Amino acid sequence: MDSVLPRIEISLSKIQDNTRILSRLYGLKGISLMGVTKAVLGEPAIAEAMIKGGVEFIADSRIENIIRMRVGGITDTQFVLLRTPPSQAEAIIKNVDISLNTEIETVKKLSFYAKEHNKSHKVILMVELGDLREGILPCDLPQFIKTILPLSNIQIIGLGCNLACHGGIKPDSKNMMKLSQLTTAIEKEFQLNFQLTSGGNSANYEWYLSTQDAGKINNLRLGESILLGRETVSRKPIPGLHTGAFKLITEVIESKRKPSLPFGETCQDAFGNIPSFLDRGTRERGIIALGRQDIRVSGILPENKLAILGVSSDHIIFDNEKYKYRAGDEVKFDLDYGGLLAAMTSPFIHKNLIDPCNNHERRHMSEH
Ligand SMILES: *Cc1c(COP(=O)(O)O)cnc(C)c1O
Repeated sequence: MDSVLPRIEISLSKIQDNTRILSRLYGLKGISLMGVTKAVLGEPAIAEAMIKGGVEFIADSRIENIIRMRVGGITDTQFVLLRTPPSQAEAIIKNVDISLNTEIETVKKLSFYAKEHNKSHKVILMVELGDLREGILPCDLPQFIKTILPLSNIQIIGLGCNLACHGGIKPDSKNMMKLSQLTTAIEKEFQLNFQLTSGGNSANYEWYLSTQDAGKINNLRLGESILLGRETVSRKPIPGLHTGAFKLITEVIESKRKPSLPFGETCQDAFGNIPSFLDRGTRERGIIALGRQDIRVSGILPENKLAILGVSSDHIIFDNEKYKYRAGDEVKFDLDYGGLLAAMTSPFIHKNLIDPCNNHERRHMSEH
């Protein structure tokens, strides 16, 4: 199984190390963590590594992934759903402890099913602070809360915000202060005592280091910095963290000397572009058995300086002059977040869990 190609090797102990270091760091200023598993499709062993590393919550954007983790035996945590499609309200009530919300009608639906299943459901209300993805405008927040406060079986446990995802707006002392102040004002107006103020994601690292006082913010939701060891404002590695917990290992299927200019009459390529090429004479070229159906080529980074010449649905063509790979050889890549997301989602790429934490059985990820 270990030699199946292509595959991603996933180091569970590196993910656990990263989580432990981040939990300690953020814990210094009273911030708890949600480990975000959406990029790894809710792989239960990865959730477990995060829990062992110290996260109090596991968060995912997809109910399917949360169900997968529950079925996979992850019970020792609270599950958080990062977005809330109304059509999934019943499944959310059954499987999720806390959901992030921005629509009154959706919360009403959650209340309906919570009552029907005799469950209590917790919600965090997301506030719009400038990034223009999800969020209730601060001016609409009091009316929103007034409307949902009487709903039975729904408990508002706090406010949250999400930045640096759509509008590229940086978490800074100004917007974080705003979230703190809103929390204080709302708690006072409605005589509530919020459990969580969830200030953001992996982009909050610089703000955290620079702030003297995190205010009311006592939670962050971290995916990329746990998995890839980087903050996401400028994608710098976080000191002490592993950046290589995931390795993509691929297989060469052809190596030949060929001219560097295509010959024959020019037409569109497989994706409707008219390609153009530089004549570098006859060179060694190679092909890897992986393509656009599996990955985005900008999201995979060769371990060496291999130059990628092009990519079609199932083939990556590279310049082989320097490394002289032969058919059957392995080529290794690091992944960025987009590369990780795509590779984890490809059913053609096997996922091998290596370096189990503590006394775990070595096991392989199931197909999905
Ligand atoms: C994906 C997501 C996160 C995690 O983001 P990272 O940049 O991976 O840390 C946090 N919050 C929400 C709402 C998300 O959708």
